[in-house]
Amino acid sequence: MNTPACDPDFAQHAMPGVAGLTPYAPGKPISELKRELGLDNIIKLASNENPMGPSPKALLAARAAMADVHRYPDGNGYALKEALAKKHDVPTRAITLGNGSNDVLDLVARAFLGPGRNAVFSAHAFAVYPIATRAVGAEAQVVPALGRDHAMCYGHDLAAMVKAVDEQTAVVFIANPNNPTGTWVNKDALLQTLENIPSHVIVVVDEAYIEYVQHPDYPDASQWLDRFANLVVTRTFSKAYGLAGLRIGYALSHPQVADLLNRVRQPFNVNLAAQEAALSALSDQQHLHDGVRLNNEQLARMQVELEQRRLFYIPSVGNFISFQTAHDTAAVYRALLQEGIIIRPVDNYALPRFLRVTVGMAKDNDRFLKALDDVLQRLEAQA
Ligand SMILES: *Cc1c(COP(=O)(O)O)cnc(C)c1O
Repeated sequence: MNTPACDPDFAQHAMPGVAGLTPYAPGKPISELKRELGLDNIIKLASNENPMGPSPKALLAARAAMADVHRYPDGNGYALKEALAKKHDVPTRAITLGNGSNDVLDLVARAFLGPGRNAVFSAHAFAVYPIATRAVGAEAQVVPALGRDHAMCYGHDLAAMVKAVDEQTAVVFIANPNNPTGTWVNKDALLQTLENIPSHVIVVVDEAYIEYVQHPDYPDASQWLDRFANLVVTRTFSKAYGLAGLRIGYALSHPQVADLLNRVRQPFNVNLAAQEAALSALSDQQHLHDGVRLNNEQLARMQVELEQRRLFYIPSVGNFISFQTAHDTAAVYRALLQEGIIIRPVDNYALPRFLRVTVGMAKDNDRFLKALDDVLQRLEAQA
């Protein structure tokens, strides 16, 4: 490429909200680490992916869809919406399909946020909320999380979030459970929150990890859609369903809200293979349950292992755990990369010296723990 005569500063010309953004830092792809270090046998525990992969039925459906890829997908996702409507006992008009649930979060921001408005969410909340909010020129009202000594340490402080809602607030984002903390809010607290937020403010309850949570006090917010017209519940096929690479998620909401989300949606935002795979994945509940059982066994075990190492961790109900070491996060992260293990530094979530590890298959977790021991021992020796 030719070097331009003068170096333009396009950030100056971008929309102010966009110029101020920090790009989302994804987990390092296996192929990238392979390229950089020439390693084989890499394990990635960095993006909360399902280590078992999707249902074999979903894979077959995705493959079969290849025969029709010269056609546009069904822009209305008829078959999948029918299945989701049945699953959730809602009309199809209540469903908005997204290219991942992140797409739906973006649709909410584009439909309801902009300059002069704000979105309320918690500190340490999912990184896509600030990006979606600021990208459209709205303000982020970040509410301090519960303290380290709280039973739900680093979790959402719902009462404070309700208080933070002001005249300019158009959206409240609640991640339940939250990523990267793995914390959650209980039924009574969430219900009270919905009751206390003005009915014109959209409340997004992001349930990306709902399938993993088995606590009796954990609420499925979709049961309250009839009570709160301002409630938007988001779900995804990326986590427990194991379809992260195909990009598909959805929102459940009042049909009027869904209508608005659909006005800003790209006409063919969800591809054909994703629609077919998701439809088949829904029909294979056995596979889903097997994955959840594996996760929850290994999650419990990993928390015990961290405790035995006297490493502080945030108790999690998802398929990941954020833990703290005494060392610089980047040093731990890089040393693990050398061992062929990809996890995720999360100090960029205002969680200093924290890293997040995704729960993997037992043998992957073994390898991670062994490598972590070696790495921490080495860093200790250097300190
Ligand atoms: C992973 C995740 C999502 C899902 O994103 P997709 O776009 O559906 O892959 C949504 N919310 C949270 C909190 C997540 O961690």
